[in-house]
Amino acid sequence: MPWDYRPWGCGGASKGSCNDGWIQFEICEDGLTDKNYFEATYKEACELTAYLCKMYGLNPKGTTSLNGVTVPVILCHADSYKLGLGSNHGDVYGWYKRYNRTMDDVRNDVASLLAGGNIFPTPTPTLTPTTGNNEVLGVGDSGSAVEKLQKDLLKLGYKLPKYGADGDFGEETLAAVLKFQEDNKLEIDGIAGPNT
Ligand SMILES: [Zn+2]
Repeated sequence: MPWDYRPWGCGGASKGSCNDGWIQFEICEDGLTDKNYFEATYKEACELTAYLCKMYGLNPKGTTSLNGVTVPVILCHADSYKLGLGSNHGDVYGWYKRYNRTMDDVRNDVASLLAGGNIFPTPTPTLTPTTGNNEVLGVGDSGSAVEKLQKDLLKLGYKLPKYGADGDFGEETLAAVLKFQEDNKLEIDGIAGPNT
């Protein structure tokens, strides 16, 4: 359905219904025992919510007012029930509680996503160690060991915009090594030794 269609997510109660104008979390429950599945849906829900907040200019931690009731911009079925604006369902907390998550976590994580935070970092790629590598590389060095160092830096997200992995340890590689050392709390000497 189009995003601006009206769902019947939470029904209604004495004070009205949250079915208009909010981002609702409504879930279909299964056995609820698969942690990976939970984490995957949590991540997708946050990303989708951030996308919608951006599209519609919504503040994920904001509130709005309906029939005199203050309503969070993002809420779940149980939230709307507690406000007198939805039928009596416990979702999503039955599931979220098992994995120590709340709707406030959602609101905070969505806000972080919108602020450009990387709250679901991709796993650090594994690097193949060069066996018996006691090499110490610095400015002026060149060759395949430097090229491997540069490729590893690129793989880890360090930028070599001008020269890339050209096998020459110059100023650009030095800057990337210094940044890597700073990020990893190593000695910041610009020398790629065994520790680095
Ligand atoms: Zn429900």
